[in-house]
Amino acid sequence: MVKKKKGMNFEYSAGGVLYDQSQILLIEVENLQGKIVWTFPKGHIETGEDARMAALREVEEETGYVSEIIRELPRISYHFMRGGVLVRKTVRWFLMRPKEKTEIKTKDEVRKASWMNYDKAEKQLAYPGDHHLLRVIRREMR
Ligand code: ATP
Repeated sequence: MVKKKKGMNFEYSAGGVLYDQSQILLIEVENLQGKIVWTFPKGHIETGEDARMAALREVEEETGYVSEIIRELPRISYHFMRGGVLVRKTVRWFLMRPKEKTEIKTKDEVRKASWMNYDKAEKQLAYPGDHHLLRVIRREMR
């Protein structure tokens, strides 16, 4: 979903943090600046979808895992420049558990998907918002 306002675009995405036996699933992607980063799977909320549906769809497309939502996590907002326009993006995040493994459908976007323990995930994650999500999960899922 993209909304426009004077000089700024607003985008709304949804994603999932998959949790299984104290392991967290991270994906490796190339970001807009051409940097390779580890983060969590997510994507735009399409028309007619709610945040939960979008998060489940994006997780399945980007990781191959059909999943179920355990609960919602804090939403995270950030800014970035795309094509000379400032974008403010808000992402709704959901804690999920995997139910079934299928194929990754967005092989061009996702370089790798990898299960990691908390310590390794903490070392790999690039964005402050992702670190915040990991801290929340780590505190509650012991
Ligand atoms: P989507 O996965 O929602 O379709 P996208 O791939 O189009 O999104 P983002 O993942 O939002 O775009 O990345 C756009 C830019 O925002 C990145 O190049 C990066 O600089 C920045 N960015 C991405 N995720 C975060 C984050 N969690 N915190 C801060 N900045 C981020």
